[in-house]
Amino acid sequence: MVRSKNDDNPAVSQDNSFAIARMQFDRIADRLRLDTATRELLRSPLREHHFAIPIRMDDGTRRVFRGLRVQHNDARGPFKGGIRFHPSASSDEVRALAMAMTWKTAVVDLPLGGAKGGIVCDPRELSDGEQERLCRGWVRQMARAIGPAIDVPAPDMMTSAKHMAWMLDEFEVIFGVKAPGCVTGKPLGLGGSLGRTEATGYGVVLALQQALQQIGIRTEDTLASVQGFGKVAQHAVRRYVALGGTVIAVSAWDRRERRAHTFHSKRGLNPDVLVGITDEFGGIDRAKATALGYDVLDGSAWLEQNVDILIPAALENQITDANVGRVHGRVKVVAEGANGPTTPGADAALEDRGVLVVPDVLANAGGVTCSYFEQVQGSTNDYWRRDQVFERLDACLASALSAVHDIAEHRGLSLRDAAYLLAVDRVVQACRARGWV
Ligand code: NAD
Repeated sequence: MVRSKNDDNPAVSQDNSFAIARMQFDRIADRLRLDTATRELLRSPLREHHFAIPIRMDDGTRRVFRGLRVQHNDARGPFKGGIRFHPSASSDEVRALAMAMTWKTAVVDLPLGGAKGGIVCDPRELSDGEQERLCRGWVRQMARAIGPAIDVPAPDMMTSAKHMAWMLDEFEVIFGVKAPGCVTGKPLGLGGSLGRTEATGYGVVLALQQALQQIGIRTEDTLASVQGFGKVAQHAVRRYVALGGTVIAVSAWDRRERRAHTFHSKRGLNPDVLVGITDEFGGIDRAKATALGYDVLDGSAWLEQNVDILIPAALENQITDANVGRVHGRVKVVAEGANGPTTPGADAALEDRGVLVVPDVLANAGGVTCSYFEQVQGSTNDYWRRDQVFERLDACLASALSAVHDIAEHRGLSLRDAAYLLAVDRVVQACRARGWV
């Protein structure tokens, strides 16, 4: 994959996320005493698609964008995972995310595998028409390798229901059939599920509550600081505040200034007010925030707040060996809303300090769980009420959380290792049952 010019976002990872993902897998493979063939199968994606997407720009010129889809493993069911639009999307980042999806669907025991995809682009610089042509171009390149029983994309960073609608439409035009299960995260009127938009953030807070319960702290007595204010963070913040918690800092990327800012208020930020000054990509308007009386701090200030909880919900590799020392001594829980926000070195340092890290594959699994519900609803043409969706989401996530917490307690493992142990073992069993290894 060609790495595009960086968009000057210094927080965008330059680390090798895939090497980190493999390292995490290797540690669990050692514990499970996996044989060489099984390790080889799971350390690499089953398949990768790299392709060009030529589109006509609004000004009549032509541009060629790079698209990709990494299909890591489908032993337990169709590949499943988001599509991100990002100017710095790279093959290794997407490989790492695809592998994480395999473990995430397995932790929640969904009959799905893991994949991830993307287009190297900055949708903030593209019109809706250009984004639509990109989505349709991605589907034209991938049409024969995706579908309800093969691989089901969903929204991720800087993509949303509108992109899924264009992708669904292109897929259905190509095959001449209605196939609502070919993507999830669709608009409600096109077969989307109630609750899908909130599900990831909702799950982050459910996982957070379990962690707080374990250490005997009431949500109402806690302060939190959050990185990101997009699809995941907005709903996590809303839910956490509704439960009585106080968010004193939120950081977001400012595309005009090409840097991140942290918005801070000692009294607590009001999520509804903040959403009102946030654009569709999760960028917060600095001038409006200042007018509201919020302090505007450096983008990295979210990390060093005097709070009980950190919720990284933006990018990967944000809490690193280099900055973990700046995490305040008061922090007791890190709930990973984003995928891969903590490097292994930082993870170990946090564990040494007694900080409970709720890993991404568990903390942000609410989104893919609700995506699975969306597929079930689409395939039966029977759409559930909102309370039915959340009742099932609660049941699925509670069962995954308690399974992981039990393993962690009985084996003396971190929550991350416990979640990986459960997930990798389930995927290995499926590969063995199929006779792959
Ligand atoms: P999004 O594009 O909706 O929001 C991203 C947010 O991060 C925005 O507020 C943006 O301003 C902010 N951001 C970007 N660079 C930043 C920086 N340097 N400092 C501070 N903030 C910065 O994306 P999303 O869907 O909310 O996804 C966020 C993370 O959660 C990603 O890691 C994604 O893979 C993961 N995730 C998403 C879902 C989902 O359902 N959308 C599910 C599971 C995991």
